Amino acid sequence: MTLVYTHENLTLVMNMEAALQSAGIKTYIKNQFSAGGRGEIPCFETWPELWVTSEFQLEQAKEIVANIMSQEQQPDWHCKNCDEQNGAAFDFCWQCDAAKPS
Ligand SMILES: [Zn+2]
Repeated sequence: MTLVYTHENLTLVMNMEAALQSAGIKTYIKNQFSAGGRGEIPCFETWPELWVTSEFQLEQAKEIVANIMSQEQQPDWHCKNCDEQNGAAFDFCWQCDAAKPS
């Protein structure tokens, strides 16, 4: 397995996982449930981590991650359906699956 992405915000890691899974890439999240109980100071070791389980999908996974991270420079968008904030890279609301307004 290879680590492809980590972030202190589990939602972002899960968004990334969803993007990889929709491309048919098998993933695994480490530290998904260890975020609680840490102090105010972000502790890198308890960040959720997104791992790709099969080596032959690794290059594709890295491309998707790089693509999404480059799009993260854009502003978040606001879901009109459920009021959720979503990252610019995502075409559908992670909360309710509503399409991103164009
Ligand atoms: Zn929504």
